[in-house]
Amino acid sequence: MNNIQTVMVVGAGQMGSGIAQVAAQAGLHVYLHDQKEEFVQRGMATIRKNLARNVEKGKLDETEKDEIIARLHPSTNLEHARETGFVIEAVTENMKVKADIFSRLDAICPPHTILASNTSSLPITEIAAVTKRPEKVIGMHFMNPVPVMKLVEIIRGLQTSDEVYQLTEDLAKEMGKVPVSVNDFPGFVSNRVLMPMINEAITCVYEGVATPEAIDEVMKLGMNHPMGPIRLADFIGLDTCLAIMEVLYEGFGDSKYRPCPLLRKYVKAGWLGKKSGRGFYVYSE
Ligand code: NAD
Repeated sequence: MNNIQTVMVVGAGQMGSGIAQVAAQAGLHVYLHDQKEEFVQRGMATIRKNLARNVEKGKLDETEKDEIIARLHPSTNLEHARETGFVIEAVTENMKVKADIFSRLDAICPPHTILASNTSSLPITEIAAVTKRPEKVIGMHFMNPVPVMKLVEIIRGLQTSDEVYQLTEDLAKEMGKVPVSVNDFPGFVSNRVLMPMINEAITCVYEGVATPEAIDEVMKLGMNHPMGPIRLADFIGLDTCLAIMEVLYEGFGDSKYRPCPLLRKYVKAGWLGKKSGRGFYVYSE
């Protein structure tokens, strides 16, 4: 068991709000931080909606829901990280943005605070290198949607200590998840296997092999996938898919990871998938 009672989640988007929800459900106090009040409130609204649905389904009662919400503390001030024992960063998949946050967190947090990243693909060792506590930096890769998916990949950087690894594994279990240990290579395991499949499915759309609907049907009915790769790409976020492909392409220097031009085009158009209302499919609220 660990003695962490207060955590901060940095980034209140799809992943950050889900991580904050499961942490608060596990009894932890959680600062949910984002750059702007409206982004934090959007994350809080998602959590309230999820919890209300759980009440309707009889998985929670009203009092429990209110207690969970009371443990969530919206924050637009990164200084609140000073009061925490563990920070989970879930901002945009971009090394510059993450490096800036980790160096600020390193300056703000007391020496015992562990700094984890929910990055899908970026090297933990490189993120850790911007801090003066590389032994306390670790990858904690949750799956989307966080309240539903059991897996957390736990990624050690080159210098991550055994003690920090153990604490992170314990925390993941406390949050009701199943941790799996993975080494620090581009895309880890999940996205090294998943993302080339998604990129290939998008290439099938690009080359006119089949429509997005047909590709998703093939993979659902033929391969028993619960969701087709094109819809899954929309759910993950096409910007995130592209960022991960870029990391694989650059990290391995192998042309087999080249991002599909159609994926680039959609991201340039702002068609980011479900979160922006349009990707390969169109979404209304
Ligand atoms: P998202 O676009 O929904 O959310 C990102 C959030 O980060 C936004 O709310 C944005 O305002 C905030 N942000 C950006 N810069 C910031 C800063 N400097 N300070 C504070 N907040 C900042 O993205 P997401 O899907 O939640 O992805 C977040 C991270 O989780 C990425 O690293 C991504 O690779 C990873 N991830 C995503 C998935 C997925 O399926 N989408 C799955 C696992 C991991």
